[in-house]
Amino acid sequence: MQAKPSKDTNKQTKKKFFFSNASASARGSPGRCWGVCAARAGLAPCPLPPARLPPRPLPGDAAGGAGPARRRSSLAAQVAAAGCARRDNAGAPCLALGHLQVPLKPGRSLMDWIRLTKSGKDLTGLKGRLIEVTEDELAKHNKKEDCWICIRGFVYNVTPYMEYHPGGEDELMKAAGTDGTDLFDQVHRWVNYESMLKECLVGRMAVKSVAAPKEFSSTLSEEKKQLNGMLPERKVLGASAKDLTPSYDWFQTDSLITIVIYTKQKNMNAELVIVDCQEKRLRGEIIVDEHSYLVEVDLDHAVQEDMAVNISEKVGKVEITLKKKDKINWKTLGRPLESHNTFVKHSDRGLFYRKCKLVSKVEVTHDTKLFCLMLPKSTRLHVPTGQHVYLKQIIAGTEVVKPYTPVLPFLPLDFKEPSHRDGEHIYLMIKIYSCGLFTQALDHLQIGDYISVSSPEGNFKKSQVQTSEDLFLLAAGTGFTPMVKLMNFALTEVSCVRTVKLIFFNKTEDDILWRNQLEQLALKDERFEVQFILSQPTKDWMGKQGKISPSLLSEFVKRNRKDSKVLICICGPTPFTEQGVEYLKDLGYSQEEIHAFTA
Ligand code: FAD
Ligand code: NAD
Repeated sequence: MQAKPSKDTNKQTKKKFFFSNASASARGSPGRCWGVCAARAGLAPCPLPPARLPPRPLPGDAAGGAGPARRRSSLAAQVAAAGCARRDNAGAPCLALGHLQVPLKPGRSLMDWIRLTKSGKDLTGLKGRLIEVTEDELAKHNKKEDCWICIRGFVYNVTPYMEYHPGGEDELMKAAGTDGTDLFDQVHRWVNYESMLKECLVGRMAVKSVAAPKEFSSTLSEEKKQLNGMLPERKVLGASAKDLTPSYDWFQTDSLITIVIYTKQKNMNAELVIVDCQEKRLRGEIIVDEHSYLVEVDLDHAVQEDMAVNISEKVGKVEITLKKKDKINWKTLGRPLESHNTFVKHSDRGLFYRKCKLVSKVEVTHDTKLFCLMLPKSTRLHVPTGQHVYLKQIIAGTEVVKPYTPVLPFLPLDFKEPSHRDGEHIYLMIKIYSCGLFTQALDHLQIGDYISVSSPEGNFKKSQVQTSEDLFLLAAGTGFTPMVKLMNFALTEVSCVRTVKLIFFNKTEDDILWRNQLEQLALKDERFEVQFILSQPTKDWMGKQGKISPSLLSEFVKRNRKDSKVLICICGPTPFTEQGVEYLKDLGYSQEEIHAFTA
């Protein structure tokens, strides 16, 4: 198939094609009580019997989930954060601020770390004892050779981990002897440090009693304690915002239970509603701007797998209808779970996973496959354009979590229909790295196997595209994945879009993802153009070559008109994204006109 030549370049193109050549675990916390944590996560048991510390609510429980995740908003920060998501050297998760990765010594990969944690070596220096740590005690352990860090009320001796940390020792040292929760959350709140550092667990922060703030009393009445001032701050809205807090009600007939959530928001849609019903546990999450409202109950009686979710978009009402297994009268909806009826910042809500079935695995290129995962029947989840999910697997006894950006099953060529809204499947286009820890394990999954998939995350907002006239998509390798839904959305639902131009950087021709489909789309829709740029082409390559550079960008990224509303999205390896953003700024594009996809 052939793609049409670009309007602005490449007269020398010999071929007809226009070759513009070109990764919380169930992160509540480390377990509900000592000793249960490991079993719950499918890990080796804690080194000591549970009785060493008295059971008490976990920090995450008390706070209704995760600690504050004050994300750095600047683009530079976003890009920096992505540095840790790269696993070029080690594949080990970054536990500190997101700066670029540092080269790790040989033998310091994530797999090496996992091996060390399984070796039986005493990594805390406490011979398996778990202790209560005061703030003063924590502060004493602030040197590389003796470094303790508190994350969500739990204290870890990270000295043995120093050399394995992809972000480098200095990054880790920024939190030495202190509460590192904020630093950690700013970058990778999804990283399952509980699992990764379980052998480094020193103990919990000692508890000191404080009076609970008034606003908390309805949802936190049982929680009057704070962990040495290190309890993750719970985000509860002030009085005026309280009026906007969603609420819920429920009613029943002989055979049905209906839960009604009044979101108090107009323009509710399926992407803002996530419902899971696992056995008797019902979880309904509503996303309201930066916040999340949760209905979470252990249902009074069993229900059938089948359920219905109806959204009245204009009035903002969400109805979840469950079918009773037995036609009996329910006295209550059920037992409220820890985060039931809470309205918190979305970033403070723990990641929730459900098991999805692998239903197909199709080759896209020599090293990239399209995985189709089927959501459980009793899950309603739509991953919004520009957002990613986390996959979780137990590898060598340790939970490993990596981010992936869902795509469509194929590129629709007919943009008359609204974008593909399947809702039952999640499609992931994943490059299998020959020495990749996670992708190798993924590739070994058999059809019919299950894998845990999180709810969506990400800071891209569709509204960024909704006013764009010229959309430029700079993608490198699998950095193409967020662009798939994005171009589909722009071409289908954004009436003001005049051009969508994909500039796709790859190493070789064989690496180009969905090349044929892209070329077909360019032929079919005159608003769409594609440029392939290869960094390691063969001699036969007639098109553009090179890596991202100011000259390439000035050639391909041009406003149609002086006052065109432009959005440039960029995604790929971190150096690519970082350089791209800098070059674009040098070319005069403002920060608002650029969106960098990062972790
Ligand atoms: P690791 O064990 O971490 O690394 C092993 C080797 O693989 C490394 O030495 C290196 O040579 C190579 N390698 C690993 N990761 C990278 C990398 N990121 N860049 C370059 N080389 C690497 N990947 C997809 O295939 N599809 C997606 O849709 C996708 N979406 C993502 C979304 C986000 C928000 C982020 C941050 C990343 C995304 N990734 C995606 C990358 C993915 O999360 C993993 O990093 C990747 O699958 C490698 O994991 P691994 O454990 O197999 O490799
Ligand atoms: P790759 O190694 O095949 O490289 C593809 C192209 O990227 C190269 O041809 C080159 O043009 C460019 N490139 C690579 N390294 C570069 C460098 N150091 N400087 C400038 N340009 C460079 O790419 P891949 O293996 O497919 O990796 C894709 C990357 O995209 C991964 O790092 C992945 O984590 C990231 N990704 C991020 C998201 C997200 O949303 N944040 C989504 C998907 C993929």
